[in-house]
Amino acid sequence: MYATLLADATFHDFLLACDRDLAAQARRKGCRRCRGRVHSGNYRRKPRGRLCRLGPEHNWRFSLCCARHGCRTRKTPASVRFLGPKVYLAATIILIAVLHEGGAARMRRLKELVGVDRRSLERWRRWWREIFTAMPFWQNARAGFMPPVDEKRIPVALLERFSGGATEERMIALLRFLAPLTGGQVQAL
Ligand SMILES: [Zn+2]
Repeated sequence: MYATLLADATFHDFLLACDRDLAAQARRKGCRRCRGRVHSGNYRRKPRGRLCRLGPEHNWRFSLCCARHGCRTRKTPASVRFLGPKVYLAATIILIAVLHEGGAARMRRLKELVGVDRRSLERWRRWWREIFTAMPFWQNARAGFMPPVDEKRIPVALLERFSGGATEERMIALLRFLAPLTGGQVQAL
């Protein structure tokens, strides 16, 4: 069951480790403007949508900043945890969409646990349907899916395309696929 993932500290630890790797990769590439060295410029977020207690390291969004005086360009590495500026964790936003299709009772239960209101839910649905599907990221990626993904059912339809036995593996595969979205290119609703 997908919802149990949110209560699993090991799952969150794994996502954190992925984000560390993505940040290290971005750091090796240097500044995107002047190619100079970059420093850590991590900042704290208050992510919502977890169902277990986690250490403070889970609240940091990894970020980098050019070390060169006069440039100081900020670079936000890809992330499997944060979907752009959204407050809720990417995994939570995907799960909510899965449960939405799965039936009203389960949906209500998760809504209570995670504390999402109706307005957020509606916003997320619009985000997937209107903003996500119009992004260059998706416009480029969708040709790689055969048969085509039913865009009205994203993100659930996408999750179904990632194979792997365990639900956790599929979720991680989808989060990895979506990770490039978060490099400051995501438009909030
Ligand atoms: Zn620079």
